[in-house]
Amino acid sequence: MMYPSYLNLYESGELKERVEKAKEMLLSCKVCPHRCEVNRLENELGYCKTGRNAVVSSYFPHHGEEFPIRGFRGSGTIFFSYCNMRCVYCQNYEVSHLGEGREVSLEELADMMLELQGMGVHNINLVSPSHVVPQILEALYVAVQKGLRIPLVYNTSSFDSIESLKLMDGVVDIYLADLKYLSREFGRKYSKVKDYPTHAKEAIREMYRQVGNLKVDERGIAVRGLIIRHLVLPNDISTTVEVMNFLRSIDPKLAVNVMDQYFPFYKAKDYPELARRITREEFERALKEAEGFNLVRD
Ligand code: SF4
Repeated sequence: MMYPSYLNLYESGELKERVEKAKEMLLSCKVCPHRCEVNRLENELGYCKTGRNAVVSSYFPHHGEEFPIRGFRGSGTIFFSYCNMRCVYCQNYEVSHLGEGREVSLEELADMMLELQGMGVHNINLVSPSHVVPQILEALYVAVQKGLRIPLVYNTSSFDSIESLKLMDGVVDIYLADLKYLSREFGRKYSKVKDYPTHAKEAIREMYRQVGNLKVDERGIAVRGLIIRHLVLPNDISTTVEVMNFLRSIDPKLAVNVMDQYFPFYKAKDYPELARRITREEFERALKEAEGFNLVRD
């Protein structure tokens, strides 16, 4: 078996087939659980406001991710503009809601991957990829032919469709997945999506099925596997007990990052229950709930 995994699919011809299947999904878009059924090949826009081409806000070697991701030389991060969620506390709303960034062709996206690889980063870290899975696959196919040889990190809020994730099976080696809350009501109220818990749980099960638990090399850098991120929100809006119980049912030794950096960005001030940082007690309680997992930190 070759590494990264996508080399095997490239060699067998399967990667090319995935690109074609993914492109078909754009015709009546069902790339993510919104299933807008707009024709993105003709630049019709759905919830994510992204048409035929991906929009990228920035790309650079990121040194702020978890150690297994950033390692010593950084993670080659590509930030996609727009998102298929609208979290009221979004810390990047100019990019994720307003779409700050530049439309890129598949060749340009491939060149970004190669440029990052040339800077010596450990991986290509695709941030907010859920609505641009077809564009990522198309660019990857070009980038592999031009010499891309580092693994892909799929860095998602977990509002992903199973169809799209299946296209990434054997393509992505590392999944970095948020699990925000397991409450339908909170998903609707604070992220403006229908049934976040059902979709996120299914997506995370699928990611785990594909790559399993986190495996690192002798330096501690991620080779393959799933890392979960859980941002603790004030007033237990993050439903931490439910989240940890669910994760335990997948694998009690899962790699989990329990995060304390919540800040009431964007519209959070309009929601009194979200309008403050978390307390030390709230964070400690969340950490206690996460006991037994492989806890990773930024
Ligand atoms: S990817 Fe965009 S257009 Fe397609 S279903 Fe999701 S939100 Fe709608």
